[in-house]
Amino acid sequence: MKFNPATALEKTHHLGSYNGVNQSINDSATFAFESGEAMTACFNGQLEGAFLYSRHWNPTNLALSQALAAMENSESAWVTGSGMAAITNTILELCESGDHLIASRTIYGGTFAFLKNYVKRYHIEVSFVDTTNLDEVAKSIRPNTKLIYTETMNNPMLQIADIPQLAVIAKKHKIKLVVDNTFTPMIFSPIELGADIVVYSMTKFVNGKNDTTAGAICACKEFINSLIDLNHGSSMLLGGVLDSYRASNIHKNLYTLAIRMKQHSANAMYLAEKFQTIGIKAIYPGLPSHPNYKTMQETMNPEFGFGGMIAIDLETTERASRFMTLMQEQHVGYLAVSLGYFKTLFSNSGKSTSSEVPEDEQKKMGLSEGLVRFSVGLDHEIERTFELIEKCYRAV
Ligand code: PLP
Repeated sequence: MKFNPATALEKTHHLGSYNGVNQSINDSATFAFESGEAMTACFNGQLEGAFLYSRHWNPTNLALSQALAAMENSESAWVTGSGMAAITNTILELCESGDHLIASRTIYGGTFAFLKNYVKRYHIEVSFVDTTNLDEVAKSIRPNTKLIYTETMNNPMLQIADIPQLAVIAKKHKIKLVVDNTFTPMIFSPIELGADIVVYSMTKFVNGKNDTTAGAICACKEFINSLIDLNHGSSMLLGGVLDSYRASNIHKNLYTLAIRMKQHSANAMYLAEKFQTIGIKAIYPGLPSHPNYKTMQETMNPEFGFGGMIAIDLETTERASRFMTLMQEQHVGYLAVSLGYFKTLFSNSGKSTSSEVPEDEQKKMGLSEGLVRFSVGLDHEIERTFELIEKCYRAV
């Protein structure tokens, strides 16, 4: 039977202490040992299941990680204090000085800035390519290439990476395929499709409440253990761990993710189709006019829909700005970055979440200065939301 992330998650158990129906929050940074010998054994990695210090593991983070691993069908997972911690820890764990990696040109601005400006301090080279162009990816591989990095649905152009085909290239060259699945939890199961490592900004859909930043790394046990190795691990030594209070909240929110994704997707599809009928050109991968519609159809878990993200082009920054201000005044949602919230959020990508990407690179990725990206909320009456958006659009 085909893997289903929602069913896999449902099968996890999360009783806390005293049989509380939610996992208990373990409110300790450090853990006591019964003897000096036990402490020594634990630090030597010989005490299976023992906790030594919260930056390494704590029971609350472990419970959330196990649920995430079930949802992704990965052997293991580890949770971080932000999506950027998940991404940077993963890349620094896989690459060392003199290595090379291939990254999608169209990615979240913070990831782009890290790869463009930061890793060169460590003499790691990056080739930015269009990861939907498989030839370009294959041709960019060098003897020192360690990984291919892509977003499943990318930011902000909403292109869809062909994960099975990228996995074929990665496997052929014995390199890792790292996928940021932040826009499409449940909708895509990248490990099932052949990816090696999945990273998340759980700040977005996974948590869905916009009350914290958090991230996750889902991968095989060997990789997760290397990340938290006491002497060499990027996560252990850079210290990007998630706080257990936040882990507990996210864990509870995870169990409504499947129904939230369906509703985000249904609302976004409604808006995308309506935009089309009134002549607004919408970028939405659920429309047959989208260049990667077929790839998405062939690789997605269809019951969760085509996702909650839509972009429309207002052509100029000024017009985009007037449109967004008006939408906020009319209570369509909030003029704010981020996504996956229960309210609709909108932002002008080129001047916000992709502002780290220089203008010439923005042009190469086809990003217009007037592009407004919507993270469509869980609105109960999406027909009403559409009417408000249309009114604002016509007014500018
Ligand atoms: N990946 C994607 C696709 C994002 O949109 C973002 C944030 O906006 C990140 C990663 C970074 O996550 P965080 O803000 O939780 O560090």
